[in-house]
Amino acid sequence: MSAQAMPSPAHPSPREMPFEEIDRIVHAAQAAAEPWASSDASSRSRLLRELAAALENGREQLVALANEETFLGAPRLNGELDRTAFQLRAFADAVDAGEPYAFIDDPAVPGAPPAGHPRLVRVTLPLGPVAMFSASNFPFAFSVLGGDTASALAAGCPVVVKAHPAHPRLSAAVLKLALSAVREAGAPDGVIGMVEGASRDVGVYLVRHPGIAAVAFTGSFAGGAALQREANARPVPIPFFGELGSTNPIVALPSAISAQGPALAKMLGASIAQGTGQFCTSPGVLLMLDGDATDTFIRELAREMDAQSTHAMLSPAIRSAFDHGVDKLVRHAATTRITTGESSAEKHPVPNLVALDMDAFLAHPELREEVFGPSCVVLKARSIDEMLAALRAIGGSLTVTVWGAEQDDADSRRIVRQAAAIAGRVLFAGVPTGVAVTRAQHHGGPWPASTQPHTTSVGLMAMQRFLRPVALQDPPDWLTARAGVPV
Ligand code: NAP
Repeated sequence: MSAQAMPSPAHPSPREMPFEEIDRIVHAAQAAAEPWASSDASSRSRLLRELAAALENGREQLVALANEETFLGAPRLNGELDRTAFQLRAFADAVDAGEPYAFIDDPAVPGAPPAGHPRLVRVTLPLGPVAMFSASNFPFAFSVLGGDTASALAAGCPVVVKAHPAHPRLSAAVLKLALSAVREAGAPDGVIGMVEGASRDVGVYLVRHPGIAAVAFTGSFAGGAALQREANARPVPIPFFGELGSTNPIVALPSAISAQGPALAKMLGASIAQGTGQFCTSPGVLLMLDGDATDTFIRELAREMDAQSTHAMLSPAIRSAFDHGVDKLVRHAATTRITTGESSAEKHPVPNLVALDMDAFLAHPELREEVFGPSCVVLKARSIDEMLAALRAIGGSLTVTVWGAEQDDADSRRIVRQAAAIAGRVLFAGVPTGVAVTRAQHHGGPWPASTQPHTTSVGLMAMQRFLRPVALQDPPDWLTARAGVPV
């Protein structure tokens, strides 16, 4: 059993699914693959809209269940359900606009090559059944009907969900509503299925299954790396789209601190503690230039963090990983703890802010690991060069936030260049928690933020992960008349 799956009163051990049952679910997905791949826009968008409506109609029961299992609170969970329904409808709109059927048509050019060539029509085909691993910290938006499922269905791929053991009853309730929506929409049986289990064998079996054509994963670095190895070790390796952990550095330059220090400290303190820090985009490193204004800002930030209230973490295992991560930081000789609250087994975790010596940070990779929860490390750099070195050492991250790069000068350019070199999203205002679902969104980034830096798991471009290009050379008229809808 995994650390995450340890049973507790809120998390009874999920049912261990026999492999024969997993086979049956994957075979149903395989049977649905062809009709779903060749479905037209109205069939696909109808299912996506039915799924959005099913979530909204089940809101009362679903939010109550989610709250019992995750402790995230009704306001946050209602907002997350809204976002998940919005996301399903956004993909429905994209399907109606023809996005999964888009094609490039190069008419034939008479004459000798290289200028002369036959007609080439580049279409895209759905990959086939996608195994989708839910995350614990987004029980709606990165779970059964979350962004991976919505984007795979929009692309024309059936989905087999691996339910997260931290919210098994919610996953079962959402699946039940989803299966009614599948019937209501007239979509093929098997287009959505779900497997669950108390042991990691279930997930590994699913990734190794010959009927699975791709994997979408959101979760920890360790889990994503292990499952990616499984995907690559198959006799026929398959694409593995993993969105993993991240430390999301904030670069706060002196001009921003002198212009709006107190407001930024307030906003950052709230962001670090939001949802008890259980966001993949939670700010985990603050980079500033050494000086008096920086010391004042850090004291203000610590005050803001000490004033934040938190709630129970998603599972006992996540709580113990947080305590362990904070302990590792606090006990290090190069660390000074700045926040004053003390966590204890009886209390919710308290926000943790520590100042860490830059040389130690650069020298010790273990001090750069994500501490999942409300914890942040402050680094005081002696120069812009040292800030850049810290960003390079952090490496792949979902986000980097840069406050104070308003002037087009050499330092702004160097910082922006380095931020973009390691992150999937670079922010110049606000905080990284909160990921808008739009066409331009990019939620990914170089390893270890994601396993495929050219793809995103949030936003409309997420659908492209599950489409494979095929060039049709001199296709017959009946085929091009389908305007990109696969046969
Ligand atoms: P997790 O522990 O990695 O679990 C994710 C899923 O993977 C679960 O179904 C888990 O099943 C399975 N799994 C994990 N390790 C496995 C292994 N070795 N073999 C087979 N299956 C395995 O992560 P989590 O609890 O959902 O989330 C916490 C982490 O996710 C944080 O680090 C956070 O930053 C990250 N996260 C990232 C994003 C993003 O977009 N990049 C979003 C949300 C969260 P079992 O528990 O049954 O093993």
